[in-house]
Amino acid sequence: MNILLTGGAGYVGSACLRLLKDSGHRVVAFDNLVEGHADAVDGADLVIGDIRDTSLLEKTLRDHEIEAVMHFAAATNVGESVVNPAYHYDNNVGGTLSLLNAMVAAGVKKILFSSTCATYGLNPSSPMAEDAEQDPCSPYARTKLAVEWMIRDFSHTYDMGFTLLRYFNAAGASTDGRFGEYHHPETHLIPLVLQDILDGPKALKVFGNDYATEDGTCIRDYVHIEDLASAHLLAMEAIEQNTQEVYNIGTGNGQSVLDIIKACELVSGHKVKYTIVGRRPGDAPELVADPLKLQTRLGWKPRYTKIEDTVRTAWAWHKNRPNGYAKK
Ligand code: UDP
Repeated sequence: MNILLTGGAGYVGSACLRLLKDSGHRVVAFDNLVEGHADAVDGADLVIGDIRDTSLLEKTLRDHEIEAVMHFAAATNVGESVVNPAYHYDNNVGGTLSLLNAMVAAGVKKILFSSTCATYGLNPSSPMAEDAEQDPCSPYARTKLAVEWMIRDFSHTYDMGFTLLRYFNAAGASTDGRFGEYHHPETHLIPLVLQDILDGPKALKVFGNDYATEDGTCIRDYVHIEDLASAHLLAMEAIEQNTQEVYNIGTGNGQSVLDIIKACELVSGHKVKYTIVGRRPGDAPELVADPLKLQTRLGWKPRYTKIEDTVRTAWAWHKNRPNGYAKK
């Protein structure tokens, strides 16, 4: 299949792009390289552009005879979304409207959307199935929920097949150590802890230890980036023009912030210093997936089931590439 990946040079998008390419699909990344890295597309076609540029998108869809879109491009920083909601609504909601308009104009009828477990937000169910009520608690998560509804509405009117993938926390690096997570500035827990170990303590903060969880810190479900990519491949290949599906992608196991710090200590052999500070606005106490639907309907089987193994791949990447995709 000819597939366009918006945000295809980002951490998750590029992992999916490389797997799709290795599986015989023709892939094109469309990325403004604000958060993505050209090196991450590993020589695949890359169109540098913004998804709010509808005419460039339409031209790209036509030029490459695209049959399906995987839509990753988005502003993803939860904390920043609280401070600057306009930026998130503009990129995520405005950007998706532009993409859907381009798809309608070019006659592309299949879309897979990178949604998030953050749309469940304050819902206390754990593990979380796809039919759990969505109660997002940050502007970022609300933009993702708005986009889910936009895709449903376009699908209804224009006969588009869609799959919404709500994923839990993407983590780790490629098994071969060549591709990993690199954001600037970094806000995600695992890279922050590992960078702290590599560069020397830089005041690592744990955001709140007064949640109603076993050790008081937030619980998340960390899924290895290659397992996340394999779920995308399965979901993409299953989309027909009448598909209207939602899948959660996660391991089904939760780790607290302190569990993650311990796993990083174990893998690196270094002790980590941290300070407990107040809660981060927009954080849900616990988000753990029920992956049963993905496993039974699509036959998904994660290869990484132990958090230490996932962290080990991230540690290898950070040690080998302390400056991420920049020159060593
Ligand atoms: N977290 C933390 N300190 C940090 C960064 C993150 O305590 O410096 C916590 C955060 O509050 C959340 C968890 O680690 O409970 C995972 O956060 P991350 O930003 O990695 O992913 P998110 O769950 O927000 O998508």
